[in-house]
Amino acid sequence: MTKRIFHSTCVVAISVFIASIALFMCVIYNYFTGVQHSQLKMQTGLAVQGVSQNGMSYLDGLDIDDYRITWIDKNGNVIYDSDKNSSEMENHLEREEIKEAFESGYGESSRYSNTIMERSLYSAQLLSDGTVIRLSIAQNTVLKLLIGMAQPIIIIIIIAVILSIVLASRLSKSIVKPLNELNLDVPLSNDGYDELAPLLKRIDRQQKQIKMQNLELTKKQLEFEAVTSEMNEGIILLNKNSEIISINNAAKKLFVSDNYYSGQNFLTLNHSYSVQKLISDASEKIASELKIHFESGEYQLNATPVISNDEVAGIVLLAFDITEKEKAEQMRREFTANVSHELKTPLHTISGCAEIMKNGIVKDEDIPKFSEQIYNETQRMISLVDDIIRLSHLDEGASDMKKEVTDIFSIANDVVKSLSNTAKSADVTLDIVGESTTLFAIPQLIYGIIYNLCDNAIKYNKKGGSVTIEIINSEKTVELSVSDTGIGILPEHQDRIFERFYRVDKSHSKSVGGTGLGLSIVKHVASLHNAQLSVHSIIGSGTTIKVIFPK
Ligand code: ADP
Repeated sequence: MTKRIFHSTCVVAISVFIASIALFMCVIYNYFTGVQHSQLKMQTGLAVQGVSQNGMSYLDGLDIDDYRITWIDKNGNVIYDSDKNSSEMENHLEREEIKEAFESGYGESSRYSNTIMERSLYSAQLLSDGTVIRLSIAQNTVLKLLIGMAQPIIIIIIIAVILSIVLASRLSKSIVKPLNELNLDVPLSNDGYDELAPLLKRIDRQQKQIKMQNLELTKKQLEFEAVTSEMNEGIILLNKNSEIISINNAAKKLFVSDNYYSGQNFLTLNHSYSVQKLISDASEKIASELKIHFESGEYQLNATPVISNDEVAGIVLLAFDITEKEKAEQMRREFTANVSHELKTPLHTISGCAEIMKNGIVKDEDIPKFSEQIYNETQRMISLVDDIIRLSHLDEGASDMKKEVTDIFSIANDVVKSLSNTAKSADVTLDIVGESTTLFAIPQLIYGIIYNLCDNAIKYNKKGGSVTIEIINSEKTVELSVSDTGIGILPEHQDRIFERFYRVDKSHSKSVGGTGLGLSIVKHVASLHNAQLSVHSIIGSGTTIKVIFPK
């Protein structure tokens, strides 16, 4: 701006100066022409006097360089001319100044002379004898004048240009200074130019509007961040160039490295082809998803384009933790395979026995043996199916069963009663220690836990062994422990016995009618009651399994 003002000021100053010089030259020219005319008239008067008194001898004795003198008779013929041979000159009667002199005694004119090839001033005066004396002088042209005054004019021009530059520079700086000093943070505090007041008022108004909008935006962003930061799902908002606008804590943990910066292109955080494809699909308005593995687990990544005015304005990325879902899926697959396998074995046995009996190969005395085998396998299948039904019932949350105030000691007594024959036939004593203790639980499931634990304690016991059920009622918990003096469990198996179909010794388990599901049902019921499970076992000495219920 300073430059523009400077240039404009210089141009104006120099133009005005040149125009002034031109006007001045015109005035000077007119003035000099007037002076020339009056001098010529005076000189003509002198020449008339000289010729009137001395005639041709006056003219012959004249020594004039600047002037041209011509003497013309009454008929217009040239008697004498200081520059040319008079006899060769044409008649001058029709010359304007001569004509005027003959008519009024004095005449003047100015014209371009073919004789001397330049513009001249003429002055003619009538003599008393009827002849006319004419003086002429070359007229000063503007160019001549200019050339004559060239030196002072050039000096003046140089001074004027330097002055213009200096003044224009100062002027432009002084005009721009208040503009440069404007404090746009507080527009109304400026008092530089009155003309700027409307602009400053408008800036002030707009600044207030922008501040309000910024506050509103910041508030919304904070709200959004507060909501999303606590979410377990990762949320990332990208603009149309795949640059990160917002990323919540969960997503940062998954994608962001230490050198992350706001506005970073998301594709620089994850170089995998599948993620790049997901983003490029979303950029072409195609919502898609993919499963992606991170150190923390399995995730599903959904990319949804945000469309505005039929164009993709951004992309929303959502990352869900599907580790549990995947695990459950895996468990379901394993469970189905295990169930099929567990059912296949007894079915083969039953089918084999039935086939032999059908073909009549079996002797009569062997029929009870085969029938018993079929019966046993069928019972095993029934127990297995019962356990599977129980487990799937628990998997579905056992919502049809309601928690109620339950006396766990009394339930344990019921279990002792129902297992007393089994214990007797296994040559194992079954005891219970404790007193009536209530807790808020589902009685059928508590019965199931105690029954399973005692059943195992008898099954995996030794002849002459014992099983003790203990109910300990403490301030904050109710502890159920089932201890036996049986075969014990090696430490490496202790964590795994609660898995579905996990058995330490498969043939032993089968021989005692085990399904491999009893402890997984116990674990499930314990978790439904928020109870803690623990195993303490010494191989060859016995096992204690504790279930600690919170009150
Ligand atoms: P099962 O129907 O085979 O008994 P469980 O789920 O009840 O299945 O138990 C899993 C495995 O844990 C059993 O096969 C057995 O090897 C082991 N086990 C359970 N309870 C005891 C115990 N009291 N003493 C020794 N081993 C046990």
